[in-house]
Amino acid sequence: MRKKIVAGNWKMNLDYSEAKALLHDLIKLKGKFGKDVEVVICPSSPYLAVFAELIKDQNWLHLGAQNAYFEDSGAFTGEISPIQLKSLGIKYCLVGHSERRDNFNEDYALLAKKVKALIAHDITPVFCCGEQLQVRDSNVYREFVMKQIEDSLFGLPAPEIAKCVIAYEPIWAIGTGKTATAEQAQEIHGLIRARLTSTFGEKIANEVPILYGGSCKGDNAKELFSQKDIDGGLIGGASLKADEFCAISNSFV
Ligand code: PEP
Repeated sequence: MRKKIVAGNWKMNLDYSEAKALLHDLIKLKGKFGKDVEVVICPSSPYLAVFAELIKDQNWLHLGAQNAYFEDSGAFTGEISPIQLKSLGIKYCLVGHSERRDNFNEDYALLAKKVKALIAHDITPVFCCGEQLQVRDSNVYREFVMKQIEDSLFGLPAPEIAKCVIAYEPIWAIGTGKTATAEQAQEIHGLIRARLTSTFGEKIANEVPILYGGSCKGDNAKELFSQKDIDGGLIGGASLKADEFCAISNSFV
């Protein structure tokens, strides 16, 4: 069975004491999060080492990084390597979030290298894809998202693609309060699953969790997660409130 995942992307929010307070609020809710749901939080990188210590007895809660470079070490000032993340016990890493594609010019080839490097060090890439509003409106969004996935992921051998998580995040829904409808999201998730099936076979395609992201909240998660190819959520704003994030984790039917 595919993993159900709820992952919180804290982005560049919260100072250190605020971030620790949110972590403590989450830990207080231990036992209230959805059963059989992998709960992941992705705080800012400077907090990862301390957080890894603080949650070492919390086997229900996992850490993800928001970014990593593809080289192991060396003269890459400001970057973080998969080896460094691994040495902290980090389990997941976001790759290709639209904010990184837009603000830091991350292109398809760079993202392919990042995915490969993370898998080589046993960190699960959460590969983000999704179209801008003008792409949706011009009706070529299906081809656009498929190209993002094919160019950055489909060079992987089948056993490696099985180690990825994909997050479909329509950019027009991120941080806007305008969630994709369950039908809009399922359409793309279904297409991604079909493309994985035709390229890597049904067994592999059925192992890859596909998350939805974009203004997902406690009051809309249930409808989204009830769709056949939606395996959970990548949650931005709503992951900054412990109760709301917990409610989202309980939205699987
Ligand atoms: C995100 O940035 O990954 C995201 C889904 O943000 P939000 O939930 O705030 O739309």
